[in-house]
Amino acid sequence: MHSLRNILKKSQETGVAIGHFNVSDLVLLKAVFAAARELNVPVLIGLSEGERAFVGTRQIAAFVRSLREEFGLPIFLNADHTHSLAKGEEAAKAGFDSIVFDLSALPFEENVRQTKQAVEALKTINPAILVEGEIGDIGSGSEIHESSPDLAKGLSTPEEAKQFVEGTGVDILAPAVGNMHGMLKSMVQGETKKHLDIERIRAIKRAAGVFLTLHGGSGTDEEDFRKAIAAGINIVHINTELRVAWRRGLEQALAKQPDEVVPYKILPSAVDSVKQVVASRLKLFSGERHFAQGV
Ligand SMILES: [Zn+2]
Repeated sequence: MHSLRNILKKSQETGVAIGHFNVSDLVLLKAVFAAARELNVPVLIGLSEGERAFVGTRQIAAFVRSLREEFGLPIFLNADHTHSLAKGEEAAKAGFDSIVFDLSALPFEENVRQTKQAVEALKTINPAILVEGEIGDIGSGSEIHESSPDLAKGLSTPEEAKQFVEGTGVDILAPAVGNMHGMLKSMVQGETKKHLDIERIRAIKRAAGVFLTLHGGSGTDEEDFRKAIAAGINIVHINTELRVAWRRGLEQALAKQPDEVVPYKILPSAVDSVKQVVASRLKLFSGERHFAQGV
């Protein structure tokens, strides 16, 4: 089986990105797995600290490992938005393939200092683990927001990106390039879309020279996604869109079967709802032309 690093290198060479989808229950995991398997593309499963606390760090690692072994699909596991070294070490020991070490809320110098320490400590546990660092401000909370926060001041610069990568030794960088965690109501309704600063992505890629992750991808304009991937984005995170689909699928199933109490008769509707969103995003990130004949 390929390593995550090799999969990222290969996708970079072919101009595609890997989809990263957050899960916090079996419905979401089944949906992401089923979509990736049907399309036969690699996929990253992500869990933030809160999501890991609910599912269990070692338990999700065992689940994903079993899917990888049984089906031979390149499915990888990422510890999303990890704010302390202790939580990062816990995920590394459980067998996660990558850790997003996020101290972007701290002053830049402190972020560099502590992220460098984390890279060293995490690679001592597993030399093959990939560590991602975060700079800039993209807001917090993969949920539905009333209004858009002012993130203009928190945009990342190529100089910062270069300094951060050189100072920390991270394998992957998550910059602030117009992206934002969560979605506005108007985005959930499909009335507005997020737009990205493509030139900034291109300049950061050139300066940093590492893999780049785009966080907060939910609700982003499709053409902006294509351009961002062409400009150097290697991993795209989608969470809120899945949460919205999870809730809608569940509500529809409950409304359709008001007397049903058997979970495995109710939940497939939620799985299908999430799977459709994952499949459409995976097709986009993987270059749709590959799927013209297939799914
Ligand atoms: Zn994120």
